[in-house]
Amino acid sequence: MVVELISVGTEILLGNIVNTNAAYLAERLAGLGMSVYYQTTVGDNPERLRETLQMAKKRSDVVILSGGLGPTQDDLTKETAAKVCGKKLYEDPTAKQMLISYFQRLGRKPEEISENNWKQAIVPEDSIVLYNDNGTAPGLIIQAEDQKKMILLPGPPNELIPMFEKDVAPYLCGIEQGVIYSKVVKIDTIGESSVETQILDLINSQSNPTVAPYAKPGEVHLRVTAKAKDEKEARELVMPVVEELKRRFGRHVFTIEEHITMEEALVELMKKHNLTFATAESCTGGLLAGRMVNVAGVSDCFKEGFITYANEAKMRYLGVSEQTLKEHGAVSEECAREMAEGLAKTTEAQVAVVTTGLAGPGGGTDTKKPGLVYIGCTVNGHTSVQKFQLKGNRSRVRNSAVVKAMTLMRHAILHEYEETI
Ligand code: ATP
Ligand code: MG
Repeated sequence: MVVELISVGTEILLGNIVNTNAAYLAERLAGLGMSVYYQTTVGDNPERLRETLQMAKKRSDVVILSGGLGPTQDDLTKETAAKVCGKKLYEDPTAKQMLISYFQRLGRKPEEISENNWKQAIVPEDSIVLYNDNGTAPGLIIQAEDQKKMILLPGPPNELIPMFEKDVAPYLCGIEQGVIYSKVVKIDTIGESSVETQILDLINSQSNPTVAPYAKPGEVHLRVTAKAKDEKEARELVMPVVEELKRRFGRHVFTIEEHITMEEALVELMKKHNLTFATAESCTGGLLAGRMVNVAGVSDCFKEGFITYANEAKMRYLGVSEQTLKEHGAVSEECAREMAEGLAKTTEAQVAVVTTGLAGPGGGTDTKKPGLVYIGCTVNGHTSVQKFQLKGNRSRVRNSAVVKAMTLMRHAILHEYEETI
């Protein structure tokens, strides 16, 4: 099935907001085994939106629109889509009731609701109204005479995402015969030349299941998707490919669970081995500790975190020697090693991880360019240090350093305990 995406909003066109809805929808649709050949962004202009919709309807089976569903004057997606599908608009009692109950939940009476809100109860005939748990504008599925569908979703991501997951994904799978099953293999990229070239044979040779890579900062997710008559059969197509990917990438696979993040996988691993950890951060300035603390239950293993930004702090709290700092500088393998070993000693944590680097944009020298980062990790007294030349601006360098630090921690622990997931 061919699905096309249209993002409506002048704000997106002007670059005032980033089009995260299109990225989210495209990734999810690919995961459901659907083909997306076109994505368009169009401003809040009825004529241009009409033209875009006509073209999309001609060449795709399903058109998903995001944005422009709200109560204000510039919200014209619904009116335009109804026109293109040849559907009249009417006030739908169910949609009206949804609005009333939404406002009731907010403690507002019907007479307190401003007039323009009622516009949201007007829907095209022959459409399915999708309840919006997180806002006022209901979503809509318009079913045109030629079997084509237009799915209208509200712009705010906190409204669009739950609506897609709850109503739209099952609806789309229902149109297609059979079931779609997918699994994601999440891989870290430390030392991986190119994940994609290692799976080209799988990408090219297979149509059921398909293998599709998605790059994330410091990670690559490989989604394996199969279609079959029932879930058991689809799973039987997917799992051998997942096993093959695990075999090819070994320790680089940190999870095959959809909802598990890199930090969660790491905390799980430390808990499994009853390990505690501590952090000392220079260039990442607390970002690493912050990311680890995202994980509920990290208190079972996180002992303490230092931000040792100045040389003096590296000496005072971690015992880095003045001579090392003088001879090699703070951004050096030697300093990272002393930081990690000093941290392990002072905190008595089994896992001690440290960062030191040049986040940029200034501060570089001929031999040390911005983006140069050393990560050190001591596990049960064994220390490893890795050097990275990270790309991007200050924020990107710092965030990449955090991912590298988490990856190095995981690899060092696996090395110590000799296992893969
Ligand atoms: P509202 O009822 O809030 O007006 P709407 O469905 O009319 O919702 P828009 O007015 O187009 O949607 O956008 C509302 C907000 O939703 C935008 O200001 C923006 O924050 C967010 N938003 C809209 N489109 C996108 C998008 N494609 N990607 C990410 N965020 C978006
Ligand atoms: Mg709006």
